[in-house]
Amino acid sequence: MFIEPRVGNRHNAPRRGWIEVVCGSMFSGKTEELIRRLTRARIARQQVEIFKPALDTRYDTEDVVSHNAARIRSTPVAIPSEILLLAAGSDVVGIDEGQFFDNSLVEVCQQLADNGTRVIVAGLDMDYLGRPFGPMPALLATAEFVTKVHAVCVCCGEIASYSYRIAASESQVLLGETDSYEARCRPCFLEGMQTKALPSATQSAVTH
Ligand code: ADP
Ligand code: MG
Repeated sequence: MFIEPRVGNRHNAPRRGWIEVVCGSMFSGKTEELIRRLTRARIARQQVEIFKPALDTRYDTEDVVSHNAARIRSTPVAIPSEILLLAAGSDVVGIDEGQFFDNSLVEVCQQLADNGTRVIVAGLDMDYLGRPFGPMPALLATAEFVTKVHAVCVCCGEIASYSYRIAASESQVLLGETDSYEARCRPCFLEGMQTKALPSATQSAVTH
């Protein structure tokens, strides 16, 4: 488990900022871990602000909600620069679904951290094809602390790090749940991708 660094509550200590990233596949517990860290910061009576991309409306337009129904109040924002305006004076800023923002998220997180804010970003490290997703690779490179969490492969029960898309769409962004995605380990992800690549007549011969 990630142990939070000291948060510098000593009197007259200068505020220290840094960036934490929580990454992994879908269903790996990123949002749960983000909520856990933010809840603890609130218990420490710190000023906490939480943001998510306005396009993520899966469970709720405002709250950040995990697949396990844990939730925390958040502010949906369309572009990362809004976070700078809205987070002024916060000790801790949490951002969920970081992969859906553009690359300016990296600069926004840097500015917040430079100014003494603890920034925690949760997001998918890879898209449904296994490619690095949006601003996440640059955030992983520039964060002080990186936690990769894992789901359970729904095919074999091993540790899963891929989000396998079962829906037919080929758009990089497809909001979805267990009806659209499965957490899969590397061999089961590869097997699924190879099956998808087969012509449909061969596919039905393979699956029947
Ligand atoms: P993430 O934000 O990474 O998509 P969440 O924090 O929202 O994940 O949800 C994690 C929860 O999802 C787990 O605690 C578990 O209850 C549920 N879950 C559903 N499918 C899986 C799976 N294949 N592996 C692990 N957890 C799963
Ligand atoms: Mg999540």
